Amino acid sequence: MSATMKTMRVRSPQRQAPKASAARVQAGKANTRTPPFGGRAQGGPSAGNNSSSSPRGAAASAPCASSVVSEAAASCAKLDQGSAKDLLGGAKAFIFDCDGVIWRGDKLIEGIPETIQGLRDAGKKLIFVTNNSTKSREGYLKKFLSLGLEISAEEIYSSSYAAAAYLKAKNFPTDGSKKVYVIGEVGIMEELELAGIPHFGGPEDASAKITLGKGVKMPHDEDVSAVIVGFDREINYYKIQYATLCIRENENCEFIATNRDAVTHLTDAQEWAGNGSMVGAIAGSAAREPTTVGKPSTFMLDDIADQFKIDKSEICMVGDRLDTDIMFGQNGGLKTMLVLSGVTREETLLSEENQIHPDLYTSKLADLLPALNEINGSA
Ligand SMILES: [Mg+2]
Repeated sequence: MSATMKTMRVRSPQRQAPKASAARVQAGKANTRTPPFGGRAQGGPSAGNNSSSSPRGAAASAPCASSVVSEAAASCAKLDQGSAKDLLGGAKAFIFDCDGVIWRGDKLIEGIPETIQGLRDAGKKLIFVTNNSTKSREGYLKKFLSLGLEISAEEIYSSSYAAAAYLKAKNFPTDGSKKVYVIGEVGIMEELELAGIPHFGGPEDASAKITLGKGVKMPHDEDVSAVIVGFDREINYYKIQYATLCIRENENCEFIATNRDAVTHLTDAQEWAGNGSMVGAIAGSAAREPTTVGKPSTFMLDDIADQFKIDKSEICMVGDRLDTDIMFGQNGGLKTMLVLSGVTREETLLSEENQIHPDLYTSKLADLLPALNEINGSA
């Protein structure tokens, strides 16, 4: 008879909650771009396209002139009053990344309250998305309110919420017959709690250790039919082994990643290993690739469009990262605008190495204010 791990624990019964209604959403939808409103023609390069065959001459006449002239300059335009009015005329909704667009760390970026108010006055729907899964929507709401921004929880879409929404969309049982094992922090736990989905792991396994010995075998709960992997500052070998066992040995166990960001910004002094490192650990040992629900996957976008009853062709994605925000928008067929108030520098955007080209770019979101004031009659 095999020994068992000293860390074996008895899980308390999970509470039951009303069955969640399924959203009409799809995960892993194919990349389908629809023509954006009032913008450039769709023949230009998009994420993943090789633009190296574009005529160099096009760059010289591009609106985003730079000392670093590249094909990228031919496929993005620097925001001006005309393009801002076109954008505002065509977009009914704006999806904003938060860090680098709305705030940097704990400081609001210049002009954000006025711009958000201006967009509201112009009748725009606003949605704030973040790949950071460490907080729930309620957790983020506190941050918005602490910064003096009047936002409702329904306008916030975090990857922690996306993971719970994904399981709801798949009709994950809430009667206790199936459970979710979590690698991640409190944000995912809170969203699963709100969704009534039985779950364990996360912070409660922060100090779990294994003790190896002859014939030791780690037990795992065979009722776990989904593993969610989000950013977890207390990830350890126990969690990795537990998640791996569930994915490898439980029939049809889902493997869900909140996101696969390579880096995150725990401090502003350097880049830190992001959730890509945690997902990579589990993908490596489970020999499976996950379903990603955060950016740049289209799951979030499909769910947002469904929940808010917005046609994707009328949405503009605003972000500061090319490989998540702008690719996310392009994957879903949205208009895209890059702001340079976060991690991306203009030289990077316009460099020959960059293959991801937003429709528009500008220094900060508040650059929309003059056009907004004109539209709202307050110029
Ligand atoms: Mg950002």
